[in-house]
Amino acid sequence: MHPPHESQRALRARLFAEYFGRCAYCPRPAETLDHVVPLALGGPHSAANLVPACNCCNTDKGDTPLIVWLARRAPVKLAA
Ligand SMILES: [Zn+2]
Repeated sequence: MHPPHESQRALRARLFAEYFGRCAYCPRPAETLDHVVPLALGGPHSAANLVPACNCCNTDKGDTPLIVWLARRAPVKLAA
């Protein structure tokens, strides 16, 4: 088994690097890792389900399914 603490740190560093330290949902710097499919909805705690997110987006998204959250927050963007 991998030490959970180390692999978590490595995973976080890799995901942050992939997104250039930015939130996956907005231009702000990322501070957290967001579960794309929330754990509460059965999403796995794995790299495929994690993206960097700023506190603002992560808190706002919460346990909302991504597609629902995006549709609710970005009507202006879709029209642009
Ligand atoms: Zn954000």
